[in-house]
Amino acid sequence: MPIELKNLTIAVWVYDIDNYCIHWANEPALILWESDSLEELCSRDFKPITSKAVAEGLLEYQRAFKKDNTLFTQNWHYSPRGIKKSAFCQFSGHVLEDGRMAMLVEALPVPQLNHDMPADLTAMLSDYSADGTFISGNPPFIEAMGHELNHFQDLIVDPSALKTIYRSLSQSGRYEDDVLMKSADDENRWYHLIAVNVQSASEKGKILLHQYDIHRRKISEIALAKEVLTDALTGLLNRRGLDKKLTELDTKREPFIIYYIDLDGFKIINDSFGHGVGDQVLQTVADRLLDCLPENSSTCRFGGDEFVIVVQVKNIVVDKETLASMLVKSLSDTYYDRSRPMALSASIGIAEYPADANKLSNVILYADAAMYQAKQLGKHRWVNYEEGMEQKILRQSVIAQRLCYAKENGELALYYQPIWEFSDNTGGKIVSFEALLRWHNDELDIVSIEEVIQVAEEIGIINDIEQWVAQQALSDLLVLREYTSPDVTMAINLSAIHLREETLPQFLLDLLKNKTLLPTDLVIELTESALVEDLESEYSIVRQLVDSGIKISIDDFGTGYSSLAYLHHIPAAIVKIDRSFIVQIKNNSKTLQHIQSLIEAHEMNALIEGVETEEQQRILIDYGISLHQGYLLGLPKPLSYYIENCGSLN
Ligand code: C2E
Ligand code: MG
Ligand code: MG
Repeated sequence: MPIELKNLTIAVWVYDIDNYCIHWANEPALILWESDSLEELCSRDFKPITSKAVAEGLLEYQRAFKKDNTLFTQNWHYSPRGIKKSAFCQFSGHVLEDGRMAMLVEALPVPQLNHDMPADLTAMLSDYSADGTFISGNPPFIEAMGHELNHFQDLIVDPSALKTIYRSLSQSGRYEDDVLMKSADDENRWYHLIAVNVQSASEKGKILLHQYDIHRRKISEIALAKEVLTDALTGLLNRRGLDKKLTELDTKREPFIIYYIDLDGFKIINDSFGHGVGDQVLQTVADRLLDCLPENSSTCRFGGDEFVIVVQVKNIVVDKETLASMLVKSLSDTYYDRSRPMALSASIGIAEYPADANKLSNVILYADAAMYQAKQLGKHRWVNYEEGMEQKILRQSVIAQRLCYAKENGELALYYQPIWEFSDNTGGKIVSFEALLRWHNDELDIVSIEEVIQVAEEIGIINDIEQWVAQQALSDLLVLREYTSPDVTMAINLSAIHLREETLPQFLLDLLKNKTLLPTDLVIELTESALVEDLESEYSIVRQLVDSGIKISIDDFGTGYSSLAYLHHIPAAIVKIDRSFIVQIKNNSKTLQHIQSLIEAHEMNALIEGVETEEQQRILIDYGISLHQGYLLGLPKPLSYYIENCGSLN
């Protein structure tokens, strides 16, 4: 009996969740329930027709009502007197006189509703045991998902989504998102899924699913997203927008210049100030870019902290290099999080179309290769594309692939360079060795070890490699001691990335113990920037290392940005003065002496790297710098060399 819209007053009833019955209902509700009296309706027992999943769902609602004033809305299917009906319902908590929490239901019969709305909101409920075994589902669920369901995992199309759901359930007891699911008709459909862990007093944990079919809406959202050409965070073009722009210029054969920009140090900002601040920085970057650029340029956020700018040659007012310098300068100005300053700079690669690349598909690749070169030259600069640069990137990716297997293939080796001490003029003695990594790969030409370290850092295997270094070097130290003196120490180099590994101190201590060595037998060489980054963090690994007795040595001192001013913050035992100070030792005499006295004032030992001539050695001894390392005193050599030349070492 359809009700005319004009006659409708909303049907309302109170459902007693604990007793599976209607507690009270108004007149329109009686019609909806096909009942002629309130007594008759209230006497109905819903228990036999309530599936387990629905019962669990209602108990879940009850818990939610008790917690806060939550409202749930859904299209509810019910069958009064065997007549199939559905109503669009709003559920809220209602406290009964005896204090129990019941559910107030306000309902509109479906035919009165706007036709776009109801079908999508049909609630499908199902429940599963804690291990995901299917228990029950309400009729809309069974109809949509089929009768043959065995396990929760059979529903989810994407295995990684399944993992996320389980992870989220174990962490917070709840998961909610749009998920692609397998329907009964073997077609995948999008559902809005809410999964909750339910713990009841009588039963072990269960998983309860509420799902709504949102397929049509989701498909149109996905289609729409494909048409979006801008980046949501910055409002700049996204990759799709950039492609469109480039294709337009290509069609007109319009020459243009690409500036491929990558921010230097953005990750540190994101990690230490948080992603919210990171987002603000990216927005500031977008503003600064737009301020620098000539009219009609296009600016794209290409990825995380990468931007691509397209400037038409006819629009460029200054020359392309001047514009590049302006961009580097502008992007490297201090950024602020409220009043806290943050440092960032930019590396830019430039490529021209069609001068450098006459194929559209290459121009971004070439600009990227030039940017990579800018990074390698020390960042904070721009570089013009030159022929062959992209090959270099290719080489790096080959190195990366081979390097992954270098350890297992036994291609890694250590060379040891001696460190000498001249305490008086009696000739000196070896007090330590520095372990330097070498990689022999038959297929690649010579690969510099700096390149190896850089690639290992980029692909995330540096910790693994350096653990091997530590292990090998400490084993070899036991042998080297037999051929030199029993108190020589071993120095190993560690990357800034490895220094972020919380387990590092314990790993090294276990290793030392295992070799019956003392923490004082090991020296860790770290660059200034790695040290500064670590010491600024709350749980400094360096302090833990120092507290455990392992010695720290500041490598390449004088090349970093903090240098002397920061020295007193660093708990180092040794300062290795970079060999650039030796090259012009005569011009640098004042500086060297100043550095030496400062190091002494901090009760650290000065060591100088790169001693190549006897004259240099003599001058250094005169200055009071007694620890020397360099080709004059010994090249880096494999362990076998020391074994073979044992007689002539000290
Ligand atoms: P470093 O730690 O400053 O090591 C000293 C570098 O200077 C070595 O280069 C050594 O061969 C070179 N050298 C020593 N004496 C002289 C000299 O008299 N004249 C000149 N011109 N050079 C000298 P190498 O072996 O190519 O290593 C380069 C860098 O690679 C090292 O610089 C170090 O930063 C890094 N490295 C090596 N092994 C590892 C490692 O296991 N982990 C990490 N993170 N870095 C490593
Ligand atoms: Mg070193
Ligand atoms: Mg060094």
